[in-house]
Amino acid sequence: MRKVVKFGGSSLADAEQIRKAAAIIREDESRIYVVPSAPGKRSSSDTKVTDMLLKAYGMAVNGEDITEQLEKIKARYDGIIEGLGLQGFSLEGDFAILADNLKNEPQKDYTASRGEYLNGKVLAAYLGFEFIDAAQVIFFNDEGNLNSYKTLKTMNKVVGQKKGVVIPGFYGMGKDGRVRTFSRGGSDITGSIVAQAMKADMYENWTDVSGFLVADPRVIRDPAGIRYITYRELRELSYMGASVLHEDAVFPVCRSGIPIHICNTNRPQDEGTWIVESTGQKPDYVITGIAGRKGFCTVLITKSMMNSEIGFGRKVLQVLEEEGLSFEHMPSGIDTMTIVLHEDEFLPKEQQVISAIHRAVEPDAVEVEAGLSLVAVVGRGMRSAKGTAGRLFTALAKADINVRMIDQGSSELNIIIGVENKDFEKTIEAIYGEFITPASK
Ligand code: ASP
Repeated sequence: MRKVVKFGGSSLADAEQIRKAAAIIREDESRIYVVPSAPGKRSSSDTKVTDMLLKAYGMAVNGEDITEQLEKIKARYDGIIEGLGLQGFSLEGDFAILADNLKNEPQKDYTASRGEYLNGKVLAAYLGFEFIDAAQVIFFNDEGNLNSYKTLKTMNKVVGQKKGVVIPGFYGMGKDGRVRTFSRGGSDITGSIVAQAMKADMYENWTDVSGFLVADPRVIRDPAGIRYITYRELRELSYMGASVLHEDAVFPVCRSGIPIHICNTNRPQDEGTWIVESTGQKPDYVITGIAGRKGFCTVLITKSMMNSEIGFGRKVLQVLEEEGLSFEHMPSGIDTMTIVLHEDEFLPKEQQVISAIHRAVEPDAVEVEAGLSLVAVVGRGMRSAKGTAGRLFTALAKADINVRMIDQGSSELNIIIGVENKDFEKTIEAIYGEFITPASK
């Protein structure tokens, strides 16, 4: 058995947290590939090392003196090194190189990546593992996307049969030979790539929560946890705003069917969440999760006999394409077509789009409505449970919620409901109450 273990920033925020992580790694000898984040927040008012580095970069670009800022960052690492009792280990040389880079030719991605690079060095020294710089094994192409072929081949060659390596998360090497980072939170992606490349049996992602919750704890107090979720269900939920894992982290392991296990560094005894390709495990509830977002708007296009007009939809979508707009959903009726878009992208261009639609398809009317929230109810269990939609809409009606839009894909994996922003929380509460609370289990 070979496992990749990725630890998030709060799991490595100080010496005490690193000790916990190290104990977890040592406890199971199949935990042989370690991917660390940069030290994160030690308390809610603290600053992540990545943000401290980005601040230093901003100061350097403005020609400000960065000495003090770099000292603050160094103090975080020195505190860790001392707290771990790492004799004879120092990052002096690395900080001198960073200072030099910032003074002479500041590079944003390079600077941001040092958080994980330095933390990787500390962790490798503490564990007695080999440190492998991610810039040697992860590669990006010209467009800034992962060069998967080169990455998998090189990582296999460099890591080979080694057991006990630390590969820092979040960055790799660009085509121009400079360091490039993934988007924020990207160490999750590194972990997934390492799992794919090394054909690991499992990707353990250690964080500060015990996995995914059925609903957002800011809306539902103390929501139930999700034990098993499929890649596809997770994709639906993360798209709608559930965030524990970086959205793109699923793709590399997904291709190889490697399960991701989300675990809590502070409560390793908790079961956590398994993210899998497929499972025969009976879901705990008919629905797996509820997620949602505010800030959508709808464009309702009406035209008599629309259903028999060939090419109508294409022409409308072409308008959106030409305006550089992506749409989220497109429920339609016989003589109506509704397009759901992000408010912040659409509203600045709304008048252009409306007139372009008029030119393209000569509709009877175009009506825009803003202030919409979308709530996604996701669950593989819905396919085999009869009456789910009935229960859902009855619950919403009972809660006096006016449903403005419904969209159910034929995959039967999710039902998306549009409600007014003011009903957003109430909608999630009503759905949770219907499907999750013990009385309705
Ligand atoms: N340290 C980076 C960030 O704060 C990447 C990560 O933690 O995954 O976004």
